[in-house]
Amino acid sequence: MSISANNPSLKSWVEVPTDSDFSIQNLPFGIIKTPNLTPRVAVRIGDKVLDLKTLFVLGYLENLPYELSDFDSEYLNKMMKRGKKATRDLRNRISKLLDVNQADLQKNQHHVDQVLLAVESVDMCMPIQIGDYTDFYSSKEHATNVGVMFRDPANALLPNWLWIPVGYHGRASSVVLSGQSIYRPKGQVKPVETEDPIFAPSSQLDFELEMGFFTYDGKPLGDSISTAEAEEYIFGMCLFNDWSARDIQKWEYIPLGPFLAKNFASSISAWIVTLDAMEPFKVDSPKQTPEVLSYLKFDGLKSYDINLEVAIEPDNAQETVISRSNFKYMYWNMAQQLAHHTVNGCNVRSGDLMGSGTISGPTEDSYGSMLELAWKGTKPLKMNDGTERKFILDKDTVIMRGYSEKDGVRVGFGEVSTKVLPAK
Ligand code: CA
Repeated sequence: MSISANNPSLKSWVEVPTDSDFSIQNLPFGIIKTPNLTPRVAVRIGDKVLDLKTLFVLGYLENLPYELSDFDSEYLNKMMKRGKKATRDLRNRISKLLDVNQADLQKNQHHVDQVLLAVESVDMCMPIQIGDYTDFYSSKEHATNVGVMFRDPANALLPNWLWIPVGYHGRASSVVLSGQSIYRPKGQVKPVETEDPIFAPSSQLDFELEMGFFTYDGKPLGDSISTAEAEEYIFGMCLFNDWSARDIQKWEYIPLGPFLAKNFASSISAWIVTLDAMEPFKVDSPKQTPEVLSYLKFDGLKSYDINLEVAIEPDNAQETVISRSNFKYMYWNMAQQLAHHTVNGCNVRSGDLMGSGTISGPTEDSYGSMLELAWKGTKPLKMNDGTERKFILDKDTVIMRGYSEKDGVRVGFGEVSTKVLPAK
């Protein structure tokens, strides 16, 4: 199946600023609303959004396997139910409608006025009704750093780590959209100087720089998705900040893993970039030693070159970029994660969210959490406003950004931005 929408030579009649994440080669999906428009499916291009509900009503999406209700919806799930090929055909159609060499929509100003809205004029909504959320632990650098800090520098990686894309089941109800503030969590912590635990607001609130991916409907319960099939079951990707309370985590995580340290909030970016749009940015994965079991082997390129950065914006001050990383550092790729997730017969459904796990690079300035960047509080980070951070303070806003670039084409994710409010 050809992905004509990925043609790097395409230009749009809609103006796209040169540094925009939202080129005509991107065309990510999201849900918008305005005071006058009910929630509906939209596609982003440059600083504009394309209203797919109205586009459908005006007849521009004919001969595609969609109904009006797929776009006249407060979530992308109905549209996603149509599957991978339908999404691909839809994105190819939208690309054609926005192509500078195509007159159909471009030359009908009356229609353009109805379907093309300024991004500032719309509110972004949670794009997907998330059924289940699974989080992995797939960055070797991150797992090693955490192992060095909390266990044994000589045996930082646990014996299973190089064999299994380690993961756990997270909580979908507390996944929030970029722009929504969160409250500092409270819970049991066990300071070293006290014998018993105490109840307190977390004093070690942290972010985790991750990417998320959303699935289409998978196979029936009992069946597995292979690494070769995995891409057919992945709709798209977003930026993902998996908030973590390190002090709560440290006390509670043995023996079943994180619970309240992780389930109070996770933030996603608003525009879901299709896996199709990421196709040109595939790169080699890190070499895996020892050789993985056969169900985790894969052919071809399965990693993606995505530049990532994290910034902290203190209250009433300018932001400071504190980390620059890349998605390509991940040891276990998405195909392996999905294959592993389903190898026991576990099913995935349309709208399930998978977190990559914290993405740490090889250098100290590419780590994906405060825990690592400030090394358990021993190396506080200097902010541009003169203050220091060991962890995230009240009223700090944490901003993550990501984009890929190749052959003059930029495909990006915008940002996920979340302000932390004092504990309730
Ligand atoms: Ca995580």
